[in-house]
Amino acid sequence: MKILVVYAHPGPRSLNASLRDRMVATLTAEGHAVIVSDLHAQGWKASLDGADFPGEPGEQLDVVAASHRAFAEGTQPAEVAEEQRRLLWADAVILQFPLWWFSMPAILKGWVDRVYAHGFAYGRGEHSDRRWGDRYGEGVFAGKRAMLVVTTGGWEEHYQERGINGPIDDLLFPIQHGILFYPGFAVMDPFVVYRAGRMDAARFAAVGAELDRRMRGLFVEPPIAYRQQNGGDYEIPSMTLRAGLEQAGQQGFRLHRG
Ligand code: FAD
Repeated sequence: MKILVVYAHPGPRSLNASLRDRMVATLTAEGHAVIVSDLHAQGWKASLDGADFPGEPGEQLDVVAASHRAFAEGTQPAEVAEEQRRLLWADAVILQFPLWWFSMPAILKGWVDRVYAHGFAYGRGEHSDRRWGDRYGEGVFAGKRAMLVVTTGGWEEHYQERGINGPIDDLLFPIQHGILFYPGFAVMDPFVVYRAGRMDAARFAAVGAELDRRMRGLFVEPPIAYRQQNGGDYEIPSMTLRAGLEQAGQQGFRLHRG
C-alpha cells in the first residue's frame, strides 16, 4: 500500500524525528511505499494568504472563491498541487506532530489550510435542502485511512476524562473529525506518546515496539466509528443528531461516534 506521512517538527534530532524514522522503516519493511512531506525541511509556507493567489484582488480577497478558481484552473502554487497529488496517491495518511498549545503546530495547520482547496477537499457534492454535500465519511478521501502520531509533554493522566487538560479524544476531535473524517478519511485511533520529555533508551524501545504494532495494524484495525453525515443519523438541514440515537450518558463530541 502507499502511505503519506505529513511531518511537522523543526528538529532533525528530535524525538519526533526518531519516531518518524522508526515508522518509515517499519512500514517499508512491511512492503509499503512511503513518502514523507517534511514541512520544515521543505520550507513550507504556513499561512494561506494572497501570495497563493497572485491573480486575485488583494484588497478584497475572497479566499474560498480564490481557492476554488486556483484549484479548478490549475493556478495553485506548485507545492500545493504536489501535496494534493501525494494525498490522492496515498492509501493512508499519517499526520505526525508534537502537541503544541493543545493542537497541531501552525505549520501543519497551514498545510491543511493551503492544501485542502475548495473543490478539492471541501465544497464537493450536492448542496440542497436534501443534502449537505459529500462530507463526514464521504468526499475525496473516501476509501483511505488516516491516523495521528502525536507526542505530548503532559502526562497520560492529564489527558484522561477528569484530567486538567481535558480528554485527548476531545482535544484531537477537531483534527480527527473536522480535518480527516470531513473529507472522507476513515480515522484510526491516534498513537500518542505522553510525557515525551521523560524518554530514555528503554522507554523508547517500548514506545517503538508499540508504534510498530500500530503501523502493522494500519490497514487491519477498525477505524473510529464516527457517524456518517448522510447515513440517516442526522436531521436535515439542521445537521443535528436525531433524538434517541445516543447511548446513555453519551454527550459532547462523543455523540458523533456510533
Ligand atoms: P524532544 O524534546 O526532541 O525529545 C524528548 C526527549 O526524548 C528528550 O529527553 C530526548 O533526549 C529524548 N529522545 C529523543 N530521541 C530519542 C531516542 N531516539 N531514544 C531515546 N530518547 C530520545 N505539551 C503538552 O502536553 N500540551 C501542550 O499544549 C503543549 N504545548 C507546547 C507548545 C510549544 C510551543 C512547545 C514547544 C511545547 C509544547 N508542549 C506541550 C510540549 C511538547 O508537546 C513536547 O515538547 C513534545 O511533544 C516533545 O516532542 P519532541 O520531538 O520535541 O521531543
